[in-house]
Amino acid sequence: ESRVADKWTKTTCGYCSVGCGMLVGTKDGKPVAARGNPDHPVNLGKLCPKGLSEHLIVEAPGRAKQPMLRRNGRTSPLEPVSWDEALDVMVSRIGSIQQEHGRESLGVISTGQLLTEEFYTLGKLVQLGFRTSNYDGNTTLCMASAVSGYKLSFGSDGPPGAYADMESADVVLLIGANIADNHPILCNRLRKRPGQLLIVVDPRVTKTAMMADMHLPVKPRSDIALINGIAHILLRDGLIDRSYLAHHADGLDDFISFVADYTPEAVSKTTGLSVAVLESVASLYGHAKSAFIGWTMGVNHSTQGAMTVAAINNLSLLTGNIGRPGGAPFSITGQCNAMGSREASFTSSLPGYRKFESEEDRNQLAALWNVAPNDLPTRRGFAYPDIVEASVRGEVKALWIIATNPVVSFPNHNLLKQAFDSAEFIVVQDGFYPTPTMEYADLVLPAAIWGEKEGTYTNSERRVSKVNAFAVPPGEARADFDIFVAIAERLGVRDRIYPGWTSTHDAWLEWQRVSAGRMCDYSGFTWQQVEDAGGIQWGGERLYRDGIFPRANGRALLHCVPCIPFAEQPDAEFNFILNTGRTVEHWHTRTKTGQVKLLDAMVPNAWLEMNPIDAERLSLRQHDRITVTSRRASVPDVELRITGIVAPGQVFMPFHFAEHNSNLVTLGDFDPISREPNYKQCAVRIERT
Ligand code: SF4
Repeated sequence: ESRVADKWTKTTCGYCSVGCGMLVGTKDGKPVAARGNPDHPVNLGKLCPKGLSEHLIVEAPGRAKQPMLRRNGRTSPLEPVSWDEALDVMVSRIGSIQQEHGRESLGVISTGQLLTEEFYTLGKLVQLGFRTSNYDGNTTLCMASAVSGYKLSFGSDGPPGAYADMESADVVLLIGANIADNHPILCNRLRKRPGQLLIVVDPRVTKTAMMADMHLPVKPRSDIALINGIAHILLRDGLIDRSYLAHHADGLDDFISFVADYTPEAVSKTTGLSVAVLESVASLYGHAKSAFIGWTMGVNHSTQGAMTVAAINNLSLLTGNIGRPGGAPFSITGQCNAMGSREASFTSSLPGYRKFESEEDRNQLAALWNVAPNDLPTRRGFAYPDIVEASVRGEVKALWIIATNPVVSFPNHNLLKQAFDSAEFIVVQDGFYPTPTMEYADLVLPAAIWGEKEGTYTNSERRVSKVNAFAVPPGEARADFDIFVAIAERLGVRDRIYPGWTSTHDAWLEWQRVSAGRMCDYSGFTWQQVEDAGGIQWGGERLYRDGIFPRANGRALLHCVPCIPFAEQPDAEFNFILNTGRTVEHWHTRTKTGQVKLLDAMVPNAWLEMNPIDAERLSLRQHDRITVTSRRASVPDVELRITGIVAPGQVFMPFHFAEHNSNLVTLGDFDPISREPNYKQCAVRIERT
């Protein structure tokens, strides 16, 4: 009775990109309950275990509450300091490093967790205050390949479809997308339509694969061969939309020659699927009135991620499944506001999907910002992995890490450690303390989190949703927006870059003007309208309804995408292929969900999945403690789970756990186009610990 809420605040979940609407109940100002918003169009009142317990993170014991500084190098302890001292130290240390080594010696790594208004505010600060272009987000570890793939095929970022398309499609093809674990409420919308056919492509028998009408357990990284093989059959059998292609896409002749080699027999060898299965899948996809392709990290986490996305887009273009109900190539994003980061920041593009290389775009943005055009970069700065590598080389000397935990999430931990050891000054800004990354921090800035700030997130289907505060930050923690403004004040640029701003709403109003007329146009709706509607999709329900694409000639482009074997193939010494992923109970590196007793109790430890055939060969038994070793490092004392979920020769491990960090062993290889890491395939051996 004492816990019955006396107030309910409408907001949007701060975990994944599904973007569920929720109500948080407070009593005497303390959060006591969370429930799904029954009127919200995305989730209609449902929440997954993370959303249902999200209110508990606000008062978790491990919150960061005060600025902390190491006064005498990395071996000295972090000591509490005032905000004034913390920000003075930050600005003066970064200033002297930039004076000695150049502006670009500062690297900034942010996140997909901030409000869109905060991304916009931070982008201006980094570019016009610190004047470095070496700024990227952890979104590069997540969705960069989707961004690059969309740009390759269509000329711009922007997921073309909507969740409604997944629900209404005749055929849903999910590739490398275990949405039952990773986007659980979106998963509810699968197979709602009678007769809808679900095909899941995944090397593992994931929970999503178990729901499928057809599960295609392809060999690791053979998805491109599968996609090209489907295209081959579609062309052979006349299952393409020639009229759509004639009016809206280039490259068909080259593409026809290219996929000629991807015969069902050749693709069968590469993928491990039978010719009959390949013929059947292509026929089902090609005959569908509407066909939806969704993907997540199984596609993106690859050195061929961007080109795999382009190959997926090929299938949609060939069949005209784009811009119409039920037909879309659709990247299901990771974080709650990865989209806001892509649109309002200046990481993969200038704000408003403006191109670094376009003089017209730079001039337009400079005019809106009332700055000189040459204040804006003409090319993208270092992406996240390039910032890390530049730090190892000694080019980047100062790092500002915001709301992300690379010590657990970055691949090939050894490289990251070298980068952090080389950096002269590291600032970590986070809502939790301590995090593993703070072991390397010279300065810690305590930040407010979801539930303590007001603004917007944009979900996977471009739906802009309102985020509201129901609590105040603990101790001296401050909203990221307030931290950025205070830093701008110290840099002497506040009035110039944030004229008259006092709140995130001022950033919103300017972002509306900056995005007006762009593809990601936020100018047509207010915060209140967004809240009342349960979110509004920029660009409408789906993009490219008119078949006109934002390439110079208005036409999309088919790409010839060869299937290249992944780099670290298993051999006699490292004879398993390790795949990594997530589980429904946890989020990223558990800085949040590890604080929620319920979720921690449900899944407290990492595990490794191995097929029974391999376990028998190695004389291993269920729940043995095993060590996973790659050419880079070992992870000892992991629980073994023997299961047919993984195929022989493959093993799987979740990446959430600092205590059993799969990224000690993963490969530090990156997509040359998107710079996204290849988390999914590396060679390991397994031994009893
Ligand atoms: Fe939150 Fe995603 Fe779960 Fe919805 S599905 S409640 S957005 S974590």
